[in-house]
Amino acid sequence: MQRIALVTGANRGIGKEIVRGLARAGLMVFLGSRDEQRGATAAEELADDGDVKPVRLDVTDQWSIDGASCEIERVGGRLDVLINNAGINAGYNHPSEETAEALRKIYETNVFGVVRVTQVFLPLLGKSADGRIVNVSSLRGSIGDQGAWAGMPSMAYASSRTALNAITMHYARDLRDSTIRVFGAASGHVATDFNDFRGSRTPGEGAAIAVKLAVEDHDLCSGGIFDDAGQLPW
Ligand code: NAP
Repeated sequence: MQRIALVTGANRGIGKEIVRGLARAGLMVFLGSRDEQRGATAAEELADDGDVKPVRLDVTDQWSIDGASCEIERVGGRLDVLINNAGINAGYNHPSEETAEALRKIYETNVFGVVRVTQVFLPLLGKSADGRIVNVSSLRGSIGDQGAWAGMPSMAYASSRTALNAITMHYARDLRDSTIRVFGAASGHVATDFNDFRGSRTPGEGAAIAVKLAVEDHDLCSGGIFDDAGQLPW
């Protein structure tokens, strides 16, 4: 039976490459985009890679999430893979210059957006025999020296990824007796709009760990955060 996936924020960057990887692996992939036209264009560009369908989804807009869920239920009847990829950056201010407003703005997409989308799609994921949620996170979410500072200050963004990692673990614990597993995927420093293309990795390289966690037959522990080399410490 063909597996069904949804990727949020997938009209460009790492998300678009995750869609490509999942489609090439044979999944039916819903390409989430907050802008209908940008989503349709990206889906067209990926048509040769497999079964890709655009769906409008803004992670800050409850109605658009509910609408996407209705569409996926109508077409597929269930969801096997949810990739929470949509995210925004917040510049590189020092913590002493950061405001609560700036944090609230970034958390709205990077944290609350993931919770909104996950809550809505859990019933459809519950219909899968092997449901997987992959939250696209970052080494910057790590509390250790390797993460929180990683060269540049970014309290708003880095702490949004720390919160995402914690949320990943909480969902994993809650769902441990279900058929759904939850993982975090750290993509490395990838050249996208997100960082004015300063990253050293290609979007395809950054997408690989999320695709692997979503499609490969593995027994990795639900709740873990992984990069290409394995599980990351907090
Ligand atoms: P990107 O090229 O800027 O792409 C971000 C995507 O998220 C775009 O498709 C954007 O849509 C979408 N998006 C933003 N707000 C949204 C919303 N409210 N609802 C739905 N979609 C929304 O960035 P990227 O580098 O591919 O980043 C993707 C994910 O990887 C992010 O979660 C980021 O934190 C994570 N990550 C990136 C890096 C890196 O080095 N680049 C490293 C670690 C983790 P629009 O086109 O409409 O703006």
